Amino acid sequence: MKHPYVNDLIDTLGRSGEDVILYPSSSVSFPDFSLHMAKISGERHLLLVGEGASRSGFRGELLSNGMLLCPTTHDNRLILNGLIPTTVPQAFGKEQATFGVGDRLGIATPGHIRALSRSRAKPILAQQSKRELALTGRTYEQVLDDVSFSVFQEGYTGGFGADGDHLKSIEEIREALACGYTMITLDCSSVIGKGTEHLSVQGSRERYLDRDFYVGGRDYSFTESDLNRCVLVYGNALEFAETVYRECILTSGKEIDFELSIDETDSVTTPLDHLFVATELLSRGVEITSLAPRFAGEFQKGIDYIGDLALLEGELAQHAAIADHYGYKLSIHSGSDKFSVFPMIGKHTDGRLHVKTSGTSWLEAVATIAHCDPSLYRRLHECALANFEAATAFYHVSADIERIRPLSAVSDEDLLSYLALDDSRQLLHITYGFLLGDPELRRSIYDLLSAQEEIYFDRLVGHIGRHLHLLGIQ
Ligand SMILES: [Zn+2]
Repeated sequence: MKHPYVNDLIDTLGRSGEDVILYPSSSVSFPDFSLHMAKISGERHLLLVGEGASRSGFRGELLSNGMLLCPTTHDNRLILNGLIPTTVPQAFGKEQATFGVGDRLGIATPGHIRALSRSRAKPILAQQSKRELALTGRTYEQVLDDVSFSVFQEGYTGGFGADGDHLKSIEEIREALACGYTMITLDCSSVIGKGTEHLSVQGSRERYLDRDFYVGGRDYSFTESDLNRCVLVYGNALEFAETVYRECILTSGKEIDFELSIDETDSVTTPLDHLFVATELLSRGVEITSLAPRFAGEFQKGIDYIGDLALLEGELAQHAAIADHYGYKLSIHSGSDKFSVFPMIGKHTDGRLHVKTSGTSWLEAVATIAHCDPSLYRRLHECALANFEAATAFYHVSADIERIRPLSAVSDEDLLSYLALDDSRQLLHITYGFLLGDPELRRSIYDLLSAQEEIYFDRLVGHIGRHLHLLGIQ
């Protein structure tokens, strides 16, 4: 059904009908005005109708029909946050299942909300690492602005989080917190395995040696060499985590989901390692919401798990039990498309988990382009091939571009199944920074996806929904 204000807006602006959309779920009424999300020639605007519009605090253009049309600026987002508290991110604590959906383009959120709003997991809708921000030319503030406006656009009131993902320094964490982020993922990779300046093995002997740990129906014990190894690998990371917890998290003045990430390193986190880290955190009084171990095998970007499923399941069960015992969620990073392991993750965590995905939503955007505009897809593909080598500096993947069939041999109809192959997926997964860095391609990508947004959202609902279903949290 057409929105009652659409025709008025079309006439007043002198636009054609296709140029103006009013999102039906967005409308909210206040005592002396109503607020709506409009899209005019591909650009989103807040539309205020009613005599109170000019006193609302929103800045925009007063139209001749008395409506106020406001751009989606940061200042207007802050006014929106004040009026509608559910457009502000929140923390979810140690029990609630959460699912992170990074959105490199800043346009996927309506699809993410539709996929997650009826699931058992709360969505972490803003979730970008520093690396992704650098490669896409966005900022923490913009990411949260885009998400807040989309939450309003969808009329979603179920609550969402904002994750400053893979932060490595106190300055980065302070920046994310100042921008209103409610989850901090501390990436310890730069201090893992770098010896130990602080934690003495001597001081931790009685905590670990000559005793058993009984966790999840299983006995664990440390030998002297286990303990030495744990201290060497994780000693500095624990020191860093404690500093961040005391200087940033505790002093933030609000609830923060604090995740410790020890996944982006070469050292596989054994269950015994995890037990050591958990025990150290407890003894230092550091409360985390979730912990991301580095699992055995490979969780590569955008493709299924590579490795021994039986071995993984044995360790996963122990990691989940340790996390549960110490009172936090197990976090699964690079969770995009790990379909063969989702059922065991769901089973062993029993929904006490956090999952991070990001690249897969970008790949669904690429698939939408391949479906709607094959010639644009072909341009992206050429650019991706030309920059694959350079992109491997940012991401570790096993893709072999020699195995990718020449695009000239693939018909338009076959592009989607071609894109489902691991090598093609990884090619396009890791080269997004180069594709978006080309001004002409960038504009074409955004224009196409804006025009075909409902197709993109439907694809996201299906694809993220498949993740949730296999995890048992749909
Ligand atoms: Zn990670």
